[in-house]
Amino acid sequence: MIKVFRLESVLLVLCFLAAVAAAALCLRAPEKSLSAAAESEKLPILVIDPGHGGEDGGAVSVTGTHESVINLDISTRTAALAGLTGLPYRMTRMSEDIDYPSELKKVSQRKLFDQQSRVSFINGTDGAILLSIHQNFFPKKSAHGPQAFYAKTAGSDILAGCMAKSLDAALLPENTREAKPIAPKIYLMKNVNCPAVLVECGFLSNAGEARLLDTGAYRLRVAMSLTSGYLSYLNSKGNNYQ
Ligand SMILES: [Zn+2]
Repeated sequence: MIKVFRLESVLLVLCFLAAVAAAALCLRAPEKSLSAAAESEKLPILVIDPGHGGEDGGAVSVTGTHESVINLDISTRTAALAGLTGLPYRMTRMSEDIDYPSELKKVSQRKLFDQQSRVSFINGTDGAILLSIHQNFFPKKSAHGPQAFYAKTAGSDILAGCMAKSLDAALLPENTREAKPIAPKIYLMKNVNCPAVLVECGFLSNAGEARLLDTGAYRLRVAMSLTSGYLSYLNSKGNNYQ
């Protein structure tokens, strides 16, 4: 379900135009337009994963907002932009509610079921490229800015590099964090077999960034930079989508 964003339609149109411009800039060969690529069925499917959800709200912002809500909203906006630019996409969840089997009583069992379901969904998608969207939290409250983590699968490091570059350019140009390998304990990233990036868009433990992430305008900016990063990846060397 794609939400209608009141008071933001103008911004969305502007973002659409910017995304089209970004696509045009990203694609080095003019004859390789997105529509032409789509017609030749070479475009992969962007699988957008809003982190957490259901009984797992993720981190809680210093403003009281659950991470899962922010993740879903940024994901929905990213999906809208992908749709507008002709990029095939799917989402691992569309709401805050998750249907757990009634026989699973423990929260840990339910969380595992959810993660396993997402892995099946992603690995069952031909030509998937995973973008898992999260928010950071750290005891040191001054920490801020986006960060990208990549899976061990081929192409993931390039994908994460494109995302980090795009997020930094849009949100925090002075950010010096490089894309890094994801910790091995992250179930989803460990078990998917496609190129995969997990982005931490900002720190919910930082008051300034938490307030920004509570606004639709900033979430749209994040979504725009993720879409732009994905377009850069599609045009980058070292993948199979050119
Ligand atoms: Zn998270």
